[in-house]
Amino acid sequence: MDDSIDIAAFRDLLLARERTLIDEEMSGEDSAGTVELDQTRLGRLSRMDAMQAQQMAKASSRRRQLERGRIAAALRRIDEGEFGYCLSCGELIPAQRLTIDPAVPQCVGCASRSEA
Ligand SMILES: [Zn+2]
Repeated sequence: MDDSIDIAAFRDLLLARERTLIDEEMSGEDSAGTVELDQTRLGRLSRMDAMQAQQMAKASSRRRQLERGRIAAALRRIDEGEFGYCLSCGELIPAQRLTIDPAVPQCVGCASRSEA
């Protein structure tokens, strides 16, 4: 082993994060579920509130799905021995960056280039 990163620790972090997202999804089930828009009982404004809340719940649910996808991909890279390497240039991603977000798929350089 050289100065390589602690894969087991990152796997634990990823699994814990995935667990949290699943828990959030479970507990958010009610608000993300179909809001009954009873037009006879709700006024126009509260109906808009309900729809807005529903949109927000959907948006955060989508965000969780995206993050779970990133985490699943990172766990797959761990299994394949590719974890820690930038998907774009193949350079080792600094452990410091992985500590902030273990699911990050690119080095700083490539990430900022693909954002531009
Ligand atoms: Zn890169």
